[in-house]
Amino acid sequence: MPLQSLYADNYMPVGDVLTMAVCYVIIIVMFFSFIKRTRSFRVFLTILLFLILASMANIGYYTVLEHMGVQGGSIVGVLRLIMHASLFIIFFLFTRYIAIVTDLNHKLSLWSSFIGGIITCFVIIWDLVDTLDSRWGFRITEAGIQTGPNIFMFGYIAYVILLGALLIYVRNRIYNRVLYGFYCTVILAVSLNMIQRFSGQSSLMIGSFLLPVIAMFYIMHSNPYDVRLGSLNISAMDDMIRFYREKKVPFGYMSLFMHTFSENHAPVPASMQETIRRFSSSYFRDARLFHVSSGHFLLIYTLKRNPDYEKRISSILKAFTQEYSRFKQDYKIVIGRCTDQLSNHNEYISFIRSIHRNMAENTVHFVTEKDSADYDREAYILRELTDIYRVRRLDDPRVLVYCQPVYNIRLGRYDTAEALMRLNLKETGIVYPDQFIPLAEENGYIHILTQIILHKTCEAVRVLIAEGYNFTRISVNVSALELKDQYFCRDISGIIEESEIPGNRVAIELTESQDESDFLIMQQRINELKDLGIKFYLDDFGTGYSSLERIMQLPFDIIKFDRSLVIASASNSRSAQIVGNMAKLFAEMDFSVLYEGVEDSGDEHRCIAMSASYLQGFKYSRPVPIDEMRHFFSLSA
Ligand code: C2E
Ligand code: CA
Ligand code: CA
Repeated sequence: MPLQSLYADNYMPVGDVLTMAVCYVIIIVMFFSFIKRTRSFRVFLTILLFLILASMANIGYYTVLEHMGVQGGSIVGVLRLIMHASLFIIFFLFTRYIAIVTDLNHKLSLWSSFIGGIITCFVIIWDLVDTLDSRWGFRITEAGIQTGPNIFMFGYIAYVILLGALLIYVRNRIYNRVLYGFYCTVILAVSLNMIQRFSGQSSLMIGSFLLPVIAMFYIMHSNPYDVRLGSLNISAMDDMIRFYREKKVPFGYMSLFMHTFSENHAPVPASMQETIRRFSSSYFRDARLFHVSSGHFLLIYTLKRNPDYEKRISSILKAFTQEYSRFKQDYKIVIGRCTDQLSNHNEYISFIRSIHRNMAENTVHFVTEKDSADYDREAYILRELTDIYRVRRLDDPRVLVYCQPVYNIRLGRYDTAEALMRLNLKETGIVYPDQFIPLAEENGYIHILTQIILHKTCEAVRVLIAEGYNFTRISVNVSALELKDQYFCRDISGIIEESEIPGNRVAIELTESQDESDFLIMQQRINELKDLGIKFYLDDFGTGYSSLERIMQLPFDIIKFDRSLVIASASNSRSAQIVGNMAKLFAEMDFSVLYEGVEDSGDEHRCIAMSASYLQGFKYSRPVPIDEMRHFFSLSA
């Protein structure tokens, strides 16, 4: 009888070779696409390695059997042991994997590992004894292979029950479709194995373990390239940065931001994607492109592979200028190097965003030491803002109300003022609005600041009234974003009522919005609060895309002409005429006109000639603490 049929059933190595090949492919793909090295990822990688080991052992097992027969006895035994042990370690790792990805509670996770561990250890120890002892159990004789009780099958069934129970238990912890995907592959794997057993085959035994592994890879760990762009998902960046930090590999980065796509959440057009891909691969060696968000790309390159990176940067920028003339999309480019200050991708991205805030469109910025210091400062301010938001104290001492008096031309005295916010923080001292208002707006903290300023202003107004000061009202700035909040009117009216001052002693300054739906909301809110007597000012007129028609539809009391119009009116007589005519138009429609940023007598005279009712600016006073309004308002006789 030929040995082949005596010892080995209809085994063909193709199944195991394929299994190994697939494992290698998965590893290669993962290596080139930088996958987030989570705990589940490490377990997954270990599973792959054991699968490869099992396949090799199995191929070895049958090869030795076929060629050496009885002489190969002990080698065959060891290979079989390695194969069985690997498979049961894989089973155990499957148990761990499910527990990790579903965030199983500690107790259950421990129990499942414990039961799995016992099955695995039992099978391995049994196999070990079974193989070592040549009198019984697994041995090769002239008559063929002799085996003891089929403990492998017992272990296999035990694990199918354990894993099945686990998968059913965690059914509410993972997204249904993902779970069904796993159910299907497990059922397929078990069926495949059963069919093989019944048909006296074993070529696909190890291959059947591959099925759930492929599902795991595809669902949980694939981080595919955007083939068009050649970019990687942003989560991969974290991993890369950590890797470079650990290995102390210095790297540089280049960020391209295009606000048009960012605002519309639109993908960049195909021709542009093509260009970005070409750029990301042509100028630096081994550079990787990450797609941060719509319209924001980040290219990372190591300095070691690109020692002449400065030259490369200048050539990429030169080529970029040419492309710009083709696409004509506004951009901001930031170029920098790794720093110890930033430790993960989120920090790099918020650092770059903080730089964007102070950058003009279509400029390139090379990161400096000062940017880092500014970022530290900003991070500190943001922490304080978060705390202000968290504690929700309307009298929070960190928020200061400064005030700038406004001159009423008809009355010939200061009778109103604008409240302007400052922060007073321990580490920075006084912080000005340009350094915290955008931050507060971006992070959703602006409304609490408005409430604090309004509360403090109302308190000051109450005291000034009680002391007999003669003034009409004080205005407070409100951010357009806040109006969308459904409780906006309730919050504002609540604070005014609490302070027991009449609603007409305060005003709200709003800037115009471009959006139709924003406009409708603004109209609603103004009308609701007007009923309480609150006055409304249109702030910064002349800086936005003003539609006079729309403005006139809103019941504003005062139109504040921005300082840029005051400056323009000084530049030539034509500009002065335009500004003057607009002001006249408003005045005729019963809006009062206020000029902001009146710095000297020249400004003052021009503004008075251009239908001004009110004047505000450094000529009269810089913003001062609200208590100092006593110096500007007169006492009633
Ligand atoms: P804004 O509402 O247009 O405030 C007027 C700004 O112009 C103030 O700057 C003021 O100090 C400045 N200013 C006044 N007179 C002159 C002048 O003669 N020449 C020049 N060049 N500037 C003058 P500030 O206080 O730094 O505020 C800047 C912006 O921050 C404000 O612009 C406003 O948009 C925002 N802001 C200030 N306080 C608040 C607040 O409580 N809430 C909200 N949402 N925004 C605020
Ligand atoms: Ca204002
Ligand atoms: Ca203004």
